[in-house]
Amino acid sequence: MSEIWKLTLKEVKDLLHNGEVSPLTLVHEMFERIESQSHLNNFITITRERAFKSAEESWERIKQGNARALEGIPIGVKDLYCVKNERMTSASNVLRDFIAPYESHVTQKLWNQGAICLGKLNMDEFAMGSSNNTSAFGPSFNPWNYDQKLSPGGSSGGSASAVASGSCFAALGSDTGGSVRQPASFCGIVGFKPSYGRCSRFGMTAYASSFDQAGVFARNVEDTAIMMNNMMGYDPKDSMSCSEKPPTLDINKSIKGKVFAYPKNWMENLDKHIIKNWENCLQYLRDAGAIVKPIELMDFDFYLSTYYLLTTSEAASNLSRYTGVCYGSKKQESNPKYNATFELFGKEVKRRILMGVHSLSSKNECGYKLGLKARSIIKNDFMKIFEEFDAIVYPCSPREAFPVNKVFENPTESYKEDVFTVIPNLIGSPAMSVPSGYGGNGLPIGIHLMSKPFDEQILISTAIEIEKRANFVNYIKKFENDMNENNNSKSENSNLSNKTDSQYKKDVK
Ligand code: GLN
Repeated sequence: MSEIWKLTLKEVKDLLHNGEVSPLTLVHEMFERIESQSHLNNFITITRERAFKSAEESWERIKQGNARALEGIPIGVKDLYCVKNERMTSASNVLRDFIAPYESHVTQKLWNQGAICLGKLNMDEFAMGSSNNTSAFGPSFNPWNYDQKLSPGGSSGGSASAVASGSCFAALGSDTGGSVRQPASFCGIVGFKPSYGRCSRFGMTAYASSFDQAGVFARNVEDTAIMMNNMMGYDPKDSMSCSEKPPTLDINKSIKGKVFAYPKNWMENLDKHIIKNWENCLQYLRDAGAIVKPIELMDFDFYLSTYYLLTTSEAASNLSRYTGVCYGSKKQESNPKYNATFELFGKEVKRRILMGVHSLSSKNECGYKLGLKARSIIKNDFMKIFEEFDAIVYPCSPREAFPVNKVFENPTESYKEDVFTVIPNLIGSPAMSVPSGYGGNGLPIGIHLMSKPFDEQILISTAIEIEKRANFVNYIKKFENDMNENNNSKSENSNLSNKTDSQYKKDVK
């Protein structure tokens, strides 16, 4: 087996576009890699037939010199995006047998550029969670220290683990309060959430509609920019879609003279490795010619409570569509009880629906409305900060990956995992996590960057500077590289690309 899965998206793109490897070979190799990583439980559905069909089309285009931006590149898709005629479960028993009748806007954009779908990736049920252990299909695992059965983070844990372990070159996630960034931090890869409105939500399962955004995982910043450039854009089918033309993200822009803030008061009571990593990153920015200044932010509990008050309310409203009339298992269809589907939801989803119904039905001012007031205070505060600063820098998570079955003292304790990631979703900002070091257990940790709404470029420019200086070694390089990687993969690639397409098809059967 060749080791082509170890390459970055950009490297594989160059091989494909130069005709040095056929997309059919590549897809074949990727399915072998996925098979060898099945213990990580990252894929809920494998879309084998679709992948080979797309690969054939891509090969024809490449041969004709008509390759599109992502021609032949195999990616994974979080299982809350509709991919037409494929199963879409949102990792819930409620949608276990649901076949998507239409295509999501973001996935359609990617297929239009030639990307190939390998399958649908595991996640927390309805994207509610921070560890991937609320999935009705069992948890995904982090490839780092597999014997310890660590969480890949959540809710897009399957996507993060699949990219980190080499099962796809990039993967779609979704981010309502950190579901792209925290798993990226746990798995040692890049996770990017654009501004609210940059990517269409059409065809994505709704969790909390005023927070939900598409996002992406990749192994480095360049690959992230390539993916985002093909995902962002206006969609009339999403009423909150931004009609302004999205920027083309450029990895060569300097941050010299840019001004960064860091909330100094948050340094108290943090793990010493997390603080050290944070300080190192601030130094990288100074070394790149930027100015770094401390600021003071409110206690994180304020942001967290506002987030959970609002998102549970919106979730209760969104999930009320699962009445059992249109969705639910066959057994439930014959059940005369109108709300029989409720029994199919997992514990965490039920808890959030109940909390949401409670705050939505509160007659006084302490329910949803209170949350809205708090949200506008937070927004105003941050808009003032962004008058002076280009971006804010702080840790992505208070810790490294924890065991996937970690028992929290009480269920809401687990909500504290999101302390650092909910703010951008409250104010509609873009944000990302960049792998920047290791914690006390030698596991990856990411640094979190956020900027004012619609300034995605500053994040990419900053991330590149951190990536250059941090010397972070990812899972593939650290554990899966043999010494002769380059020689092996080059000779094997050219071997494989000598095979004819019909030989590949035979191999696959
Ligand atoms: N962990 C957060 C939650 O459970 C964020 C989830 C997400 O971004 N989808 O709400």
